[in-house]
Amino acid sequence: MESLFGLIWRVSLSMRSYFFLLFMVLIIWSCEDDELKDCQGIAGGSAVLDNCNVCDDNPENDCLQDCAGEWGGSALVDSCGVCDDTPSNDCVDDCSGQLGGSAYEDNCGICDDDPTNDCVEDCSGQWGGENICGCTDVTAFNYDLYATYNDGSCILPIEITYNIHESLPSDWVTDFYTIMDNLITIIPSYENVFDHITIYAWNSSVEDPYPGIEGGSYVGGSPGNKIMVLEISEMEFEWNLLHRFSVVAHEYFHIYQLSINQPMNLPNGSYDPNGFSIKWLLEGTAASFESLYIQEYYNHNYFINAQSNINEMVHTNPSVFESYESNNIEVNYGSSVFITLVLAKELINLGYTEEVAFRMIYKDFMLTGVKNSNWQNYFVDVFGISIDEFYQSLQSYPLNINDVLPSESLSIEDIFN
Ligand SMILES: [Zn+2]
Repeated sequence: MESLFGLIWRVSLSMRSYFFLLFMVLIIWSCEDDELKDCQGIAGGSAVLDNCNVCDDNPENDCLQDCAGEWGGSALVDSCGVCDDTPSNDCVDDCSGQLGGSAYEDNCGICDDDPTNDCVEDCSGQWGGENICGCTDVTAFNYDLYATYNDGSCILPIEITYNIHESLPSDWVTDFYTIMDNLITIIPSYENVFDHITIYAWNSSVEDPYPGIEGGSYVGGSPGNKIMVLEISEMEFEWNLLHRFSVVAHEYFHIYQLSINQPMNLPNGSYDPNGFSIKWLLEGTAASFESLYIQEYYNHNYFINAQSNINEMVHTNPSVFESYESNNIEVNYGSSVFITLVLAKELINLGYTEEVAFRMIYKDFMLTGVKNSNWQNYFVDVFGISIDEFYQSLQSYPLNINDVLPSESLSIEDIFN
């Protein structure tokens, strides 16, 4: 008979087993629950999150703060102590070797940080050059003695093509070239308006020998194809008339006028406000110039010889000589020459030297660009006398060329000097 104690013992033994098992289960269960997992979820693991939320168990690779204070940021301090994450703006040595300095090399290789002394391009395109640009051709109208670089601005003398016909006596041809040389030296024509002329000269004893070129003595053609025609009358060779030479000076003077006064180049058949065709100012000048040339180079008074016929209209209505229609009332431009010579006298009365007076009439007036619509304004501007006053003054001069002749010593070189 099992004692109660024995029963209790047995029962308690099995309960103890039961409780032991239960206890063990609870131990195991509570172990699962209580032991810490690391950031990788491994219980008891040693992985940790660094400041960039990267979980591993390597402390060596934990992320760091960059210079801007950002964990894991990529900002860096460059050599000049500037912290950012743009490597392209990292400071570097300037041209003087200073880190982050602001010195730079200018176009001449000079290193400094002063922009005000940077070298500049000179007019020839050379950096730091000291060229003086201008025209360096001594034959040019605008030759600049001080220019060191030819900038292509030269206004050169016009080109002259000569067609001198074999019908002309050889001694005339010799004189012709001498006259042309003198004129080109004294009153060169520059390519301001046109750049070349073609001269045709022949003896009237032959039929017009150049196709398309009409006979006579004149300057004509278009601006692009200007011609100077000298058909010399056979008679002038036979009788040794000085006109065979003076006509060269006369026509070349027109070339000179055309080269300094653009409006005169416009066709002058009918009134053009933009042209310039006041006859006595164009022909009185050319014709008095030819006489001055003959006086100086041939020692002959061509004024008295050829230009002494003066029409009364010079006193009564001088303005008729403004028009080429008055050609039929004057001989060899005698009236126009007279008016021109009076103008010189009036300028001398105003205190100008004779040379300057003729320079004003031959050159300065034309150089203003005077044209038909404004010539009276330029007349008073240049000469200091109104055209009406001047025409009035003509009446105080007897219509006698001898009273208004220029000095015999007057040289055209001095006039145009
Ligand atoms: Zn003429």
